[in-house]
Amino acid sequence: NTFAEIDLGEALNLNIRRCKYVKPTPVQRHAIPISIAGRDLMACAQTGSGKTAAFCFPIISGIMREQYVQRPRGSRTVYPLALILAPTRELSSQIHVEAKKFSYQTGVKVVVAYGGAPINQQLRELERGVDILVATPGRLVDLLERARVSLQMIRYLALDEADRMLDMGFEPQIRKIVQQMDMPPPGMRQTMLFSATFPKEIQRLASDFLAKYIFLAV
Ligand code: AMP
Repeated sequence: NTFAEIDLGEALNLNIRRCKYVKPTPVQRHAIPISIAGRDLMACAQTGSGKTAAFCFPIISGIMREQYVQRPRGSRTVYPLALILAPTRELSSQIHVEAKKFSYQTGVKVVVAYGGAPINQQLRELERGVDILVATPGRLVDLLERARVSLQMIRYLALDEADRMLDMGFEPQIRKIVQQMDMPPPGMRQTMLFSATFPKEIQRLASDFLAKYIFLAV
């Protein structure tokens, strides 16, 4: 009934208190325990439902425990542990701002990369290290093609406003991105799909990307 009762890790629980979040919203109350338990999730949730925290909290909490896993070094390629995909520059930067607040003093590094802005600044940010990458699909494909990002160590994937991403024509990019994550053994990656609507195109994405997922409608 309160965030204090959910053990997300001391530093994250402290940040949640700092943000004055006390009571989870319905989507948070259901999605967070499902994700903490390691299950894949398809959630129908609207803007304003608190969905950003619903996928950020389990990701940050999980990475706080995993950020010391060995990652390849020495090249210009970075290996994030989590990827959050969003349709627009505005939404991705909003998620980035929220995720950074929740990651404060956890040691978890969050970087954003969206299209329609110069790539060089984003490349410099990535070079400083990244645990959670928030990205729009087109810009991420660009980074993958330049071999500046590898998705081989992704443990957590969240797709936000998936219906909007499909409406904007991002399905080929999304499929290309997810294909690159199929390297780790099955079960290593946990996926969360958020969408306001659940048409058959989204049902198809869910059955292609998620494993034995839980369906949540709030
Ligand atoms: P979202 O649907 O993720 O865009 O969140 C909508 C707004 O609700 C944002 O301004 C959040 O900061 C705020 N919010 C999300 N979860 C909570 C919560 N449990 N308690 C108070 N405010 C929240």
